[in-house]
Amino acid sequence: MATTSTLQPQRTIDELKELRSLTGNADGAQRVAFTDTWAKARTWMREKLNQLPVEVETDEAGNVWATLRGQSEKEMLIGGHIDSVPNGGWLDGCLNVVAGLEVVRRIASEGTPPVTVRLVDWADEEGARFGRSLFGSSATSGSMNPDDVRNLADKEGIKLVDAIARYGINLDRAKESHRQLKNAAAYLELHIEQGPVLESMGLPLGVVLGTFGVERHAIRFTGQSAHAGSTPMNQRRDALGGVSKLHLAIREIAVRNGGVCTVGRVETKPGIVTAVVGQADMTLDQRHLNADSLATMLREAKEASERITKEENLGMEWNRLWQIHPILFNPDLIEMADEAVREVAGTSHRLPSGPLHDAAEVARAGVPTIMLFVQSLRGLSHAKEEDTKEEHLAMSVQALDRLASKTMQWIASK
Ligand SMILES: [Zn+2]
Repeated sequence: MATTSTLQPQRTIDELKELRSLTGNADGAQRVAFTDTWAKARTWMREKLNQLPVEVETDEAGNVWATLRGQSEKEMLIGGHIDSVPNGGWLDGCLNVVAGLEVVRRIASEGTPPVTVRLVDWADEEGARFGRSLFGSSATSGSMNPDDVRNLADKEGIKLVDAIARYGINLDRAKESHRQLKNAAAYLELHIEQGPVLESMGLPLGVVLGTFGVERHAIRFTGQSAHAGSTPMNQRRDALGGVSKLHLAIREIAVRNGGVCTVGRVETKPGIVTAVVGQADMTLDQRHLNADSLATMLREAKEASERITKEENLGMEWNRLWQIHPILFNPDLIEMADEAVREVAGTSHRLPSGPLHDAAEVARAGVPTIMLFVQSLRGLSHAKEEDTKEEHLAMSVQALDRLASKTMQWIASK
């Protein structure tokens, strides 16, 4: 008698705990990519996949793909990353793949699906060891330049190109993994929110609209260092005055435009208690989901800085450190994800993602993409305190499963 095994969200929670005890310690998760613990986690995953009617392969960038053949060659991808930061949480990245595994199990138990279903574990999402995030997914999307990462070294001085070779990856062939996206018709990813928004609204689940665009700059104000005792207040050229005023201005600019702006680092010279600051450096990080609003925030920050240099009689210099455009997810998939969340949780909420994710790379490659967020307790992540209520984890698996069913129908009908 053929029985249909329905989805078992509790099994996902049990497996996440199993993975935690296998690859974590008192300080948290230790599945840093290209280490023995990471390889152990992947072996654990492989044993689970071997019990399913799927083909498993590792591509040129080290991403692991499990393929359940369907009636159509068109593919629905479900993705995540089993790697973690050092001393990380028990959910970041691995919830995505372990929940995906449960959804693939449910689909496989019902026979041949209408479209091909693939689960992908991206290699080195976190970039914890070499400082370069999204290694596997950016190789596959095509946005990675091997020469930019080749000589990155870890704190022992081991180069990325050599470290990945130990895991069978040839950097110069990594971009050949792009072929994996040839038949991709949709990409789904579930992730913990890693922020406080859903918890503050009392909602378990949300639908992600896309990932923020980022403008990152270094700004230097130049004044004149002078004696703290002998220089009257009205005769100072205090470079820190420029930083202080601009810091307050960018907070207002963020609120006015509905984005986020952060000054994360300030350095002063000479940096002693008895001298007026002659040179002050600050970083500015601005993020928005809307490209025009991001450009407005940058323009307003520049205008504010010019006004401030006049008021404070300072010199000023801007240097761009990094920039990325906002990446928007697929409107049809956003609607379907909203429906799936409402079916499971009653209420849905749409929100942007502050952190970048593998999903953004897949979307950049032109694959219709969507993410679901599940509430993070106290908004904590990349720390051993990272947590989500078990009832919410169970709901997240159900929502991903419903979204997968809707997506398969959507792909099949296109
Ligand atoms: Zn993650």
